Amino acid sequence: MSETQAADIYDLAVIGGGVNGCGIARDAAGRGARVLLLEKGDLASGTSSASTKLIHGGLRYLEHHAFALVRESLIERERLWAIAPHIIHPMRFVLPWTKGLRPRWMLRLGLFLYDHIGGRRALPATEAIDLRRHAAGKALKPGFGPAYCYSDGWVDDARLVLLNARDAADLGADVRTRTAVVRLERVEGNWHIQTRTTQGFEQAFHARAVFNATGPAVLDLLDRAHRPTDRHMRLVRGSHIVVPRLFDHDHAYFFQLPDGRIFFAIPYERDFTLIGTTDRDHQGGLDHVVPSDEEIAYLCAAANRYFARPIAPADVLWSYAGVRPLVDDGSPAGGGDARLSTGH
Ligand SMILES: Cc1cc2nc3c(=O)[nH]c(=O)nc-3n(C[C@H](O)[C@H](O)[C@H](O)COP(=O)(O)OP(=O)(O)OC[C@H]3O[C@@H](n4cnc5c(N)ncnc54)[C@H](O)[C@@H]3O)c2cc1C
Repeated sequence: MSETQAADIYDLAVIGGGVNGCGIARDAAGRGARVLLLEKGDLASGTSSASTKLIHGGLRYLEHHAFALVRESLIERERLWAIAPHIIHPMRFVLPWTKGLRPRWMLRLGLFLYDHIGGRRALPATEAIDLRRHAAGKALKPGFGPAYCYSDGWVDDARLVLLNARDAADLGADVRTRTAVVRLERVEGNWHIQTRTTQGFEQAFHARAVFNATGPAVLDLLDRAHRPTDRHMRLVRGSHIVVPRLFDHDHAYFFQLPDGRIFFAIPYERDFTLIGTTDRDHQGGLDHVVPSDEEIAYLCAAANRYFARPIAPADVLWSYAGVRPLVDDGSPAGGGDARLSTGH
């Protein structure tokens, strides 16, 4: 191989410009690797801009005994906050005790663990509150009393991706957006990566290693690399709605539902409330994922169990949906076990 050809070979090609791809590209470039990042659309155009926007440990995963996962995420929570305090800020979450749902001892135990297993340093600890007197009770229907107030973080999710990509580029990574990988093959020990831009321009790249960070399109990329797998993925859609502000304080809510699920209601862009999420098996394509009418109605009904001011689908100003790729272990959508197999 000539010297010119060798210089054209990247150490690592990362495919997918979501939070994982951009984070990996930044990390590898920071270690001195020659990195190429290929994203078929815009950075963060996939699941990474359609999340609930929490920097959290995943309180509900404690129920599935995922202590190591929660601990790791809690440690990362304060680390990320320290790195990017301009786009991440602490938030207090109000978790009301609801008669007939999880008992108070279980909520207290879960929050005790949440406060203590992840090396919490700067965030305030959980406190017990009474919604008959606390400001967070005013927006709720009458009848709620005991509740818990715990800490997590909020993030501008798309900006987190962009900042990782920006940093990767500053560290020398070659970041190419609107560049889809259409085919990959191993040629003489290197990866030959065929791409096509949205304008139809075709270009080939070469790399010693490839990282498949295409999120829900992970199996599609394996197909393009002619790497069949007997592992099965399940795509699960999670949707959010945005409605005019339902409360005028800066706490968020973590609510339980009788089906065992939970959902969040979060102050959003000052004048709005963000409500989500759902868990529905996703059958369609990945380029234009939107909430179904049924999910929007479900989220309105969920909010109406708690908030004094009822909302209807006609009140929804904006909605969005993202898709999680789960390793298919046969459990139904919404079952926590399959979700945990993603590791995040
Ligand atoms: C409803 C919902 C709520 C969530 N809430 C939270 C939360 O609050 N906090 C949290 O930490 N996590 C949350 N998550 C999880 C988190 O959003 C995901 O783990 C994360 O966004 C996954 O990022 P990713 O980079 O793997 O995938 P993606 O963001 O989907 O990125 C994959 C990228 O690959 C690109 N791509 C695909 N095929 C190709 C190709 N052939 N060539 C080039 N590019 C390609 C896509 O365009 C896409 O941009 C949530 C997830 C969902 C679904």
